[in-house]
Amino acid sequence: MKTGFSYFGVRRPEHVRRDMAEMASEGANRVLHTWSEDDLSYYRDTMGEIVRVSRSEGLEVYVNSWGVGRVFGGEALSELVAKNPGSNQVLSTGEAMPAICPNHPAFQDYMDGWIDAVCATDVETVFWDEPHFYFRKGRGGEWACRCAVCRSLFREWTGHDMPAVADGEVSKFRQDRLLGLLGRWSHRVRKAGKRNCICLLPDHFDAGLPDWASVAALPGVDELACDPYWEESHGEDHVRGEYALYASRLVELCSRHRLEPQMWMKLYRIKAGTEHFAPLAAELSFQAGIRNLMAWSWRSSEWLSWLRSDDPAKAHSSMVRAFADLRARA
Ligand SMILES: [Zn+2]
Repeated sequence: MKTGFSYFGVRRPEHVRRDMAEMASEGANRVLHTWSEDDLSYYRDTMGEIVRVSRSEGLEVYVNSWGVGRVFGGEALSELVAKNPGSNQVLSTGEAMPAICPNHPAFQDYMDGWIDAVCATDVETVFWDEPHFYFRKGRGGEWACRCAVCRSLFREWTGHDMPAVADGEVSKFRQDRLLGLLGRWSHRVRKAGKRNCICLLPDHFDAGLPDWASVAALPGVDELACDPYWEESHGEDHVRGEYALYASRLVELCSRHRLEPQMWMKLYRIKAGTEHFAPLAAELSFQAGIRNLMAWSWRSSEWLSWLRSDDPAKAHSSMVRAFADLRARA
């Protein structure tokens, strides 16, 4: 059984080694290292070393495309739009957004380089983290992207102009474009001898990939993951409902497409008194048949103050105990 945590924010390999040893001593056998644009520009060799020391401490390694282009999830900043003027996504409202358009050639070139750098390390699996078109939380009706590149591609594909109000054709266009990219990236990773895991956002985000079955059917994919995290206002019933729903969806799709399902537990911004939510989410995922369980992030995000939990030590130890219990039952 696979269990582990994401890890970020430390780029001194000897310090990372100590943390990896501690993570392994807690029973984890997987770690996910974030690899942002900053990492690619300035920490490339260091990242290779961080992956190496993690493996030498007994952990297999995932690497994710953290916040790259703001096309993927994560807190990392992106400078791709600034470096490629005119490449930004445009909302249906006409507003320019601080995220590069996934259909822009500059992004596709960048991602080829990102993949080659990551796959030159001892990484086991590349984690495609919440690929999505830009959206603003709580803003229904608006969508991206209506940039010049997207409008031109849409016209080529349909023979008419892209509407400002989303319809079935726009939805299919967005899905097809993201699928095409995931297919291209997965192929490149496989050719380098590494594995692919695609992590999809839950349905209530307008990400552009509503049809999970078509993602599961992509050649070159090894794992399909989801992270149906709760908000601070949500109660236990919400956690139960969401994790039961998405765990069974993952298990069904993965068994049909011979993939491995992976579930992520929320381990950041854990409010005091709700430290049992992440163990509950892990239990529900385990009951559904998932044997690949990860938590975001190690030590409950104690040193990323934006995400820090009320009592990081308590939230973390609850997760460690729950993982140990599940490994013993697997
Ligand atoms: Zn666009």
